Amino acid sequence: MHKHLTCACGYVVHADSDDEMVRKAQDHSKAAHGKMMSREDILKMAKEAKH
Ligand SMILES: [Zn+2]
Ligand SMILES: [Zn+2]
Repeated sequence: MHKHLTCACGYVVHADSDDEMVRKAQDHSKAAHGKMMSREDILKMAKEAKH
């Protein structure tokens, strides 16, 4: 299932699995904002996407 997570800064993370979503969102959060997001928060914010 494809999912999107829109960061507070407008950056959109695309992923095809929960593990990929968590990894990519944590990479972005750390690189762009200098902080780590929890797996729970990431999966709560991620939404199903159709493409
Ligand atoms: Zn961001
Ligand atoms: Zn996408």
